[in-house]
Amino acid sequence: MRVVVVGTGLAGLSAAESLASGGADVVLLEATERMGGRVRTVALGGQVVETGAEWVDSTHWRMHELMDRFGVEREGEGMIWSTIRRWLFWDGVRYAGERIADVDPRAVDELDRYDDHVDAMGDAMADPSRPSSHPDAARLDSLSLADAMRELDLGAVASLFARRNSQGEFAAEPRDVSLLFVAQQRAQERVELERLGVEFRAHRVVGGLSRIVDGLRRDVARKADIRVGSPMVSLDQSSGSVRVGVADGSTLETDHVVLALPLGPLRAIEFTSAMPNDLRAAVHGLGWGQITKTAVRFSRREWLRGYGTTDSVSQRLYEPTIDQTGEPGVLMAYCGGDGGLELAAQPEEERIAAITADMRRVHGITAEAIDAVSQAWPDAPFARGAYSVYRPGEVLRYWDVLRAPWGRVHLAGEHVATCTGYMEGAVESGYTVAARILAD
Ligand SMILES: Cc1cc2nc3c(=O)[nH]c(=O)nc-3n(C[C@H](O)[C@H](O)[C@H](O)COP(=O)(O)OP(=O)(O)OC[C@H]3O[C@@H](n4cnc5c(N)ncnc54)[C@H](O)[C@@H]3O)c2cc1C
Repeated sequence: MRVVVVGTGLAGLSAAESLASGGADVVLLEATERMGGRVRTVALGGQVVETGAEWVDSTHWRMHELMDRFGVEREGEGMIWSTIRRWLFWDGVRYAGERIADVDPRAVDELDRYDDHVDAMGDAMADPSRPSSHPDAARLDSLSLADAMRELDLGAVASLFARRNSQGEFAAEPRDVSLLFVAQQRAQERVELERLGVEFRAHRVVGGLSRIVDGLRRDVARKADIRVGSPMVSLDQSSGSVRVGVADGSTLETDHVVLALPLGPLRAIEFTSAMPNDLRAAVHGLGWGQITKTAVRFSRREWLRGYGTTDSVSQRLYEPTIDQTGEPGVLMAYCGGDGGLELAAQPEEERIAAITADMRRVHGITAEAIDAVSQAWPDAPFARGAYSVYRPGEVLRYWDVLRAPWGRVHLAGEHVATCTGYMEGAVESGYTVAARILAD
């Protein structure tokens, strides 16, 4: 059986490896010269930062299997997410821990209520792979996170935390996140925590996530034909086979195609055989979150430890090098939703200057800024954004459609996984599609 896999992110690499191990004759096409897609580790001085995906959750067992296989270790104690409130920069002043109550004494209670409310929606979903099975699916999918924030009547400070949480977790503004999608994500995590019997922690990995991509790339290269710098540009599906057009003018005839590329670049592919209307609507309609990450390396670590929320352009600030040695350290600004999109519109140098100035203001840093990198995912031509976000109405409309095969064409990638939005989901989707094709 011949299979062409398009895209060498974790979805494409996992699909290619499973297919080749199952006896398929696999060609893997990658548009760029680099493999790994939205996993991109960058070295700054002797330290490393992630400009794309950063944390592996304790529930992400497929990722942990890959880490074990390639000898990649977890770094430090790990994070426990909540609607993070370790410190707050508000109206020009930085407040840490309990002092956040000085800004608004109701904020902490309001956020507890908000977290409980969101968790309860997830608790009612038994099977996160079928979000339409939620007893209140239609109503939740008609509402957004912004509606939930309004219903709970959050004050200004709690609203900022909730909005930053949405921009960070969903890469989108609260108005652009379906409550049914939020419930699905909570349910997915709860089910895995219970099944695995683990406590929640999110970890960075020692040396960076690109090590996992490198390990997979080496193993896949032994079994499959990998062609980098080879963007797919067209697809023609007839009853017996599929023809994949490559930018250099060549054509590959194959039995199955795995489209493991994000929906932005997929929208640019020329489909000479018409896609079914519902699939076409889903591919072109599904929401996509936006993130710009900017990392600045300073000669000394003059900042408050821990994850902080700001009312400024930086949105959220934290230290990715917290478990790495050396006097210099890196601060990261993680900017999602409208703010991520606005920053992406500026040239990289301007973004870095604006974020560096903001970091100095928030933490009073006087140390020298010795290096920096900024990655605007909205601008990356073969990603066109951060990751999928199901907006109000889109879970019920698009979820099942995107996960069903279209003849010999199969979509893979985080956007069609149960663990949507994560590396785990990318790997999950690769394995799922490979098993389906091999069973054919
Ligand atoms: C800023 C940011 C932070 C994130 N944080 C986390 C996190 O902390 N934890 C986590 O688990 N996940 C995180 N994610 C999500 C995670 O990175 C993705 O879910 C995952 O890497 C997606 O893998 P993929 O294989 O589906 O797609 P991708 O990694 O995007 O791979 C797709 C590949 O297809 C290629 N391609 C595109 N068009 C074509 C074409 N026409 N022809 C051939 N090849 C093509 C691309 O170049 C790319 O290599 C984050 C993502 C971003 C952007």
